[in-house]
Amino acid sequence: MKKILIIEDSKVIVNLLKIKVDEYIGEDIELLIAINYKDAIQLINQYTRDIAVAIVDMNLPDTTEGKAVVLTNSHGIPTIIFSGAESRLHEKLMQLNNVLDFVSKNTPNSIDYAVSFANRIVRNCKYTVLVVDDSKLYRERFKKDLELLHLNIVTAKDGEEAYGIMQSNRYEIIMILTDYNMPKMDGIELISKLRQTYKKDSLSILAISSNDDVETLTNFIKAGADDYIHKPYSFDELSVRIGANLNTIELFKKANDLVNKDFLTGAYNRRYFFEASSAIIAKNSRKELAVVVAMIDIDKFKSINDTYGHDIGDIAIKEVIRVIKSCIRASDLLARFGGEEFCILLEDISLDDTKKLMEKIRVTFEKNELKVDDLIIKYTVSIGVAFKLRNNINEMIKISDEALYKAKEIGRNKVIINSK
Ligand code: GH3
Ligand code: MG
Ligand code: MG
Repeated sequence: MKKILIIEDSKVIVNLLKIKVDEYIGEDIELLIAINYKDAIQLINQYTRDIAVAIVDMNLPDTTEGKAVVLTNSHGIPTIIFSGAESRLHEKLMQLNNVLDFVSKNTPNSIDYAVSFANRIVRNCKYTVLVVDDSKLYRERFKKDLELLHLNIVTAKDGEEAYGIMQSNRYEIIMILTDYNMPKMDGIELISKLRQTYKKDSLSILAISSNDDVETLTNFIKAGADDYIHKPYSFDELSVRIGANLNTIELFKKANDLVNKDFLTGAYNRRYFFEASSAIIAKNSRKELAVVVAMIDIDKFKSINDTYGHDIGDIAIKEVIRVIKSCIRASDLLARFGGEEFCILLEDISLDDTKKLMEKIRVTFEKNELKVDDLIIKYTVSIGVAFKLRNNINEMIKISDEALYKAKEIGRNKVIINSK
């Protein structure tokens, strides 16, 4: 679990920071608190690898001014200095490699700012940014700065290479920083091409150029850039712009998830399944490729709820997603359709492979043991499959539903495939 380390001797401030952290941060982040230098050393020794960021007071009772900042810095921990007064020392500390910012306790919203910045750093760990610049010097500088923000970096030396990287799907890129003038393909052409595939809700693009005419800037925005940073840039500016644009894309993602995903399992919901599968069916009917729809339903699920309670029933439902995912490819479409009913859509697959896969899913459930505390929960599933491509998704679901009904009728824990 990722951790935020707070080194602060004032109880009042610790409590205020705690309240803010709780407001901002999900369950997957833990807060470590050191109220003096000695505790800080102990916590860092224990958790170095997991500490994503530290908020550090300059003055502590058991050490000299700024020493805790030197400590977190020397362990490679991104550090936000949180202190009462600016001094000559703070300017020196700001030069240290892993110091991100100095936040004065006296400014309004300072607690809010420090915590939201720390939160940003923690969340950055899971994101990859593509930096596109023909200047090696700038690529290296971006790399250093973005790594300090805990982002993962991929670099390209021109638009063409960047476009190739995006097409390869080798990385899950959430943001691109691109220069303007580059050989082969410039920044504006790169953005125009990318925006045909990647809309603003899945990819954030920041243009960074030394051209300061208004025309370049407007052309960037027209091509689809979200923001523009002038070169040479300061670390502070880069950091706040990246932060603001990542916040925006996270909001897009949250909104999309609310609409498309099931709250309990995080799997796609019925609505999304209809939307995505309709597009797949339309595409495949032109190419006459096989499309398979399989409906999977837990057998006698009601008795799991009745025996163990609703909470464990919920865990059993989440387990279904895990098991099915372990059997199918990441590109296959999987959705929770209703209470204990799930649906998958597979493309370009033979009848033989369909039979093998469905049998594998059935047997995996049969053998699976779900352990919750000291309970072992076992259940089977019935599967109904529509093998042949039909005119639309409704027809295919109707056929798989009928097959599922038959599988239940002949005793459950069965696969019935309709390939007529
Ligand atoms: P069958 O083998 O015929 O499918 O029997 P079944 O008991 O699985 O099917 P039935 O449709 O009779 O009961 C489904 C149960 O699933 C009833 C409902 O309370 C429960 N259920 C639906 N959604 C949820 C949920 O989100 N969580 C839990 N714990 N139970 C749910
Ligand atoms: Mg250039
Ligand atoms: Mg059922």
